[in-house]
Amino acid sequence: MAETMYALVKETAAPGLTLKRVPVPECGPNDVKIRIHKTSICGTDLHIYNWDEWSQATIVPGTVIGHEYCGEIVEKGSEVVEYDVGQIVTGEGHITCGVCRNCREGRKHLCRNAKGVGVNRDGAFAEYLVIPKTNVVPVKISSTLTEDMVSSFDPLGNAVHTALTYDMVGEDVLITGCGAIGMMAAAICRHVGARRIVVTDINDYRLNLCREITPSVITVNTMREDLKEVMKTIGMREGFDVGLEMSGNAKALAQMIDNMNNGGNIALLGIMSKPPVVDLQKVVWNGLTIRGIYGRKVFDTWDKMIYMLESGLDVRKVQTHRFDFRDYEKGFAVMNSGMSGKVVLDWTTADKE
Ligand SMILES: [Zn+2]
Ligand SMILES: [Zn+2]
Repeated sequence: MAETMYALVKETAAPGLTLKRVPVPECGPNDVKIRIHKTSICGTDLHIYNWDEWSQATIVPGTVIGHEYCGEIVEKGSEVVEYDVGQIVTGEGHITCGVCRNCREGRKHLCRNAKGVGVNRDGAFAEYLVIPKTNVVPVKISSTLTEDMVSSFDPLGNAVHTALTYDMVGEDVLITGCGAIGMMAAAICRHVGARRIVVTDINDYRLNLCREITPSVITVNTMREDLKEVMKTIGMREGFDVGLEMSGNAKALAQMIDNMNNGGNIALLGIMSKPPVVDLQKVVWNGLTIRGIYGRKVFDTWDKMIYMLESGLDVRKVQTHRFDFRDYEKGFAVMNSGMSGKVVLDWTTADKE
């Protein structure tokens, strides 16, 4: 095996990324080494690329970034008996401590000491990635479960975790924020039996794509449409039963709180860039429940996600652009333009040099 590999590195404390050759990571006794085939660009990667306040406080220059991937096991440590070389896999991106109370009690997604692949340690935008065997998710590739799709399991898992937080069978659902996760969440809500699904955003490209993926979704561009009017037109006399906040926008959250039915349930996934101003008194008077969602349940969310994809959930259209890894700049540019769903980078061409 070659000693160096291509990787996308946050080289300096400034905007941008560098494609360069770095040493291939070493595989410890409890690790697997994965030859990366496909990766998806996450909003997190875009933050790191753009070098915003969060990345400046979080990312150590020199880090290989990326945490959404699909690849093949090419090497395993001496203690790994669960998996085989040649298996197609992806992985949970949070490396958890195993000793805190949440880890020990089976709630790994709430580990206080979690390290993020491609954030706090070297990531997947590279030819090879090493992760602990406990983070491996094996997958069976099929015509609907493609390697491209599997590379977006991390954000699909966020959508699944959020959408399945509350019972929504026959319920009216409001999703604020129509990014890739919002679009995938809308498809999941339909798949699991919600009644009306209303999605709000201010980006028509994304709202249109959302309706293409899930035609029965009602989209509202809040720049020019009034949510309350739309609710009247579609026959809603009360409020929404379930709210999924996926925009990270304080106004969207306030609008959600204003339009819930009494006793409604809200799940918050979107990250707010500054503390939002919301009227908590309405939460009290209307008996609302608000819950924060982080990451994916390990591995409940992963199993549900795979089983739903095997039983008819199809969100492949959320992946709108594909580039060779050498053209990563084009991928980040289209992400920054807002005119894309998920962007996939292909790393399989690296050996063909
Ligand atoms: Zn991600
Ligand atoms: Zn822990």
